[in-house]
Amino acid sequence: MTRPVTGSAPIIAVDGPAAAGKGTLSKRLAEALELPHLDTGLLYRAVGRLMINAGLDPASTSGESIARSLSLADLQRTDLRTPDVDAAASLVARDNAVRQALVDMQRLFARENGAVLDGRDIGTVIFPDADVKLFITASPYARAVRRYIQNGGSDDAPDRDQLVRTVEVALIARDHADSTRASAPLRMADDAVKIETDTLTADEVLAHSLRIVRDALKAKNVNLPSASVQDLCS
Ligand code: C5P
Repeated sequence: MTRPVTGSAPIIAVDGPAAAGKGTLSKRLAEALELPHLDTGLLYRAVGRLMINAGLDPASTSGESIARSLSLADLQRTDLRTPDVDAAASLVARDNAVRQALVDMQRLFARENGAVLDGRDIGTVIFPDADVKLFITASPYARAVRRYIQNGGSDDAPDRDQLVRTVEVALIARDHADSTRASAPLRMADDAVKIETDTLTADEVLAHSLRIVRDALKAKNVNLPSASVQDLCS
């Protein structure tokens, strides 16, 4: 597959399982590099939300027509991170017709100015020729603790361990569904750089990623829109 024409603007693919820190990293990378950012999980979430609101069951109905008419404005909705949408997005993401309907939107997003895109299949399917591919991961336990805290959980709660375990079980189930589905399963691209974030702070992950980006872009002679990545690393 050939890469769509993007001029000299870089495309950075950030993949990995849920709650590994790829969303935070991608947002910060995009800010630092002055590139547009697309959280591609929101595409599947938005299709899931619109199906639920239309009374359609994502387990038995295809969301292809909704996916085909999706716009970037739909990703701004504030109701995309609810538990019912978590479940619907996972079902929607298994549907190959939905995935195909969303490919062009993701490629067009990056065509003009490059982009940082995060998801599950960016480096393997959407942009197999991305300039830089990062695979962000962490143990299920570390990811569960993060998600628990993000959701307002307290480390002092008497039932903290049990609640974290519940989150961990749900994450493991979602990883399994994402990694074993037939269409664009979650897997690390052969040429991606893996970053394990268990013992790293968000600042450390960003600094490490910026060095990887700097070296990869230098090797490929790819330009950034403005800021010098060399300065960002120093
Ligand atoms: O990343 P997030 O948890 O928001 O993704 C929601 C769902 O969308 C995931 O369960 C995953 O199955 C799916 N997804 C995907 N491909 C992507 C991004 C997300 O299948 N590129």
